Amino acid sequence: MFNIVVFGAPGSGKGTQSERLIKEYGIHHISTGEVLRDHIKRDTPLGRIANEYISKGHLIPDDLMIKILADELDSNPEAAKGVIFDGFPRTIAQAEALNELLEKRNSKVHAVIGLEVEDDELVDRLIKRGQETGRADDNLETIQNRLKVYHSQTKPLSDFYKKEGKYHGINGSGAIDEIFEQIRQRIAGIER
Ligand code: AMP
Repeated sequence: MFNIVVFGAPGSGKGTQSERLIKEYGIHHISTGEVLRDHIKRDTPLGRIANEYISKGHLIPDDLMIKILADELDSNPEAAKGVIFDGFPRTIAQAEALNELLEKRNSKVHAVIGLEVEDDELVDRLIKRGQETGRADDNLETIQNRLKVYHSQTKPLSDFYKKEGKYHGINGSGAIDEIFEQIRQRIAGIER
């Protein structure tokens, strides 16, 4: 099992670079944001709960989110070979839960790829994405809340993973191909 966490603020390019990683390494991809948006689209009970949080730019509570993630791991046999985690973990509690979930499967997080982008650029990218895709939480008010939440709850995770010796910070501004090349080089040096 080879597990990579793609980490960064909203708009840092996690989804884009995850797509490249899937192509390059052929491993299973779990985007918790996509899982939640799918529930919202299907108007499931979980989707209705998730929408309350997502529309305000808040995080889904940890216990619920950890359960959703565990279900994703259990219901996808492909996940046994490895996973690209995109948008999870977002809190220290989630990171600790992920370590436990993977330990139970005799595995671990091998690398955390941190896409580092300045806030001004993040806001520009998210506004543009909102205009292009109509994604409901890509409006200025929600974006500002999501960035606040990122800085207070998610960013501290970089220190958590630095302490574990797993954090690889990458400059996330610039050409998509060049960013991916940097990621590829970092991953090439990681023991599996
Ligand atoms: P994303 O597509 O990763 O930007 O996620 C969109 C929204 O889904 C976030 O702003 C959160 O409201 C929610 N979400 C996604 N992943 C998580 C997570 N790991 N923990 C809590 N909330 C999440």
